[in-house]
Amino acid sequence: MVNVNAIDEIKNYLKPTDTLVCVSKKQDIEAIMSAYELGIRDFGENIVSEFINKYEKLPKDIKWHFVGHLQSNKVKYIIGKTFLIHSLDRVSLLNELEGYSKKLKIETNALIQVNISKEPQKGGVFLEDIDALLEDIEKCKHIKVKGLMSIGSTELEKSKEEFIVLKLKWDEIKKNEYNNIKMEYLSMGMSDDFKIALECGSNMIRVGTYIFGSRNNV
Ligand SMILES: *Cc1c(COP(=O)(O)O)cnc(C)c1O
Repeated sequence: MVNVNAIDEIKNYLKPTDTLVCVSKKQDIEAIMSAYELGIRDFGENIVSEFINKYEKLPKDIKWHFVGHLQSNKVKYIIGKTFLIHSLDRVSLLNELEGYSKKLKIETNALIQVNISKEPQKGGVFLEDIDALLEDIEKCKHIKVKGLMSIGSTELEKSKEEFIVLKLKWDEIKKNEYNNIKMEYLSMGMSDDFKIALECGSNMIRVGTYIFGSRNNV
């Protein structure tokens, strides 16, 4: 089920250059098609097998965002099918993405996922390790890094502080010249904190349950 009012409400908060990614994980094909018919083209998934299944069944003009932890050995299944991978957080994954992109002679767009709060259950590179990862990215030819992503804490006050920190880092990287790295997207904000994230400078929000309701099993 898609909540049309929720989509309209969210759009009121967005600037024309902002992107709403509808996170459709654990939502069925019908629900995604209802959002598609409302004009939504950006959808987010976090499980490789579920994503591939939906990718094959749904219209080809959808821009797929991969927003979950990505195991290096699953890269081969999703390569070439995503608009943006939000979860680049380690060199081993970078190398796998580079290798398969080279093989297919394509460019793969990704965001660096940052774990600001250092919560162990969250993926993402720590803030102080970003610069080292940037150096490795610069050596690649087929990976294009387009920005940063983070998942906020459940406490909104903490979440806000994290968003502010990430925006500062994004601005800092944006000022420099790098190979393969250009800060276009700052992916922060989900159902509970997208308003705060937008206030803190996010230009890409990832919203699931607020639009689709609770997640089913598909
Ligand atoms: C599930 C998920 C979302 C969407 O979360 P909601 O709270 O349902 O809006 C956004 N980003 C990531 C990385 C997710 O895994």
